[in-house]
Amino acid sequence: MEIKSGVRHPNTIIDISRIQDLKKIVSTDLVVSIGSMVTHAEIMHSSLLRDMLPSLVEAAHTIGTVQTRNMGTIGGNLMTCVPSMDSGPSLMALDAMVNIRGLNGQRQLPIADLFLGPRNTSLKPDELLIDVCIPKSNLSKPTAFLKFGLRKGQALALVNVAVSFWVDWSKNIFLEPRISLGAVAPTVIRATIAEKYLEGRQITSDTIAEAGRIAVTEANPITDFRASAKYRSHLISVLTRRALSKAYDQATLKRAGDKCA
Ligand SMILES: Cc1cc2nc3c(=O)[nH]c(=O)nc-3n(C[C@H](O)[C@H](O)[C@H](O)COP(=O)(O)OP(=O)(O)OC[C@H]3O[C@@H](n4cnc5c(N)ncnc54)[C@H](O)[C@@H]3O)c2cc1C
Repeated sequence: MEIKSGVRHPNTIIDISRIQDLKKIVSTDLVVSIGSMVTHAEIMHSSLLRDMLPSLVEAAHTIGTVQTRNMGTIGGNLMTCVPSMDSGPSLMALDAMVNIRGLNGQRQLPIADLFLGPRNTSLKPDELLIDVCIPKSNLSKPTAFLKFGLRKGQALALVNVAVSFWVDWSKNIFLEPRISLGAVAPTVIRATIAEKYLEGRQITSDTIAEAGRIAVTEANPITDFRASAKYRSHLISVLTRRALSKAYDQATLKRAGDKCA
């Protein structure tokens, strides 16, 4: 795709599609790891990920068409590094790490440090993205992903949002909130001022709405043929509010279910 559209002009192409180790979804004591060659469709159909990473599975469902989801990989999605990528926000909201291997050995980075700008990552030319790891300790965090495109299918995000947070049920307050925004800056970003605002605050419709308003001030959306910057700003506020509410509502339902069980 990048070669066809003239973005890259490589002299050599290496086919990594048959490296079986890059196609695995593995759960260990500490992390769930998703190999870089795992396709969007495999993410959608993984019962392990449906249980443990519902926001990433929801994001995979929204990507392109059936053909795109069958062929496109999580590694390709992250490495293409377009601001509207749908895999990035959910992973960033759960503090995912990426493992990278090259001639000088292996290194691990927070996923946010992978993204330098549009179509630009911190990988060196001799390095390969091996997998994305999500700490198990974060997997029971209430989380949600929402995307707004111009159509139901085959639409890039005008804005996408993923959130996660713990709830201190005794006080009904937010703990360790994360808000990740896509398509509103040169890379996927965290709305850290909105996160700080939420930390330790009561979970009410007012605080949730205020977090949405603050998130708008942290983004830098552009105007293009899909939407104006003003409309995208409006979407950030609405989607952040809805994602926080959705994650909280689901957590409340799950808690009620756990109590009955
Ligand atoms: C019609 C269409 C619609 C789409 N719609 C959406 C959408 O709605 N949402 C969305 O998020 N995305 C969308 N995409 C993007 C798609 O999901 C893929 O992420 C993208 O096409 C990359 O494809 P790929 O995984 O085959 O990677 P490739 O095309 O094989 O690779 C992409 C880049 O990543 C590099 N790369 C790949 N794997 C690795 C690795 N393991 N280590 C280091 N570098 C690597 C390659 O060298 C290349 O530069 C769409 C794409 C198409 C063609």
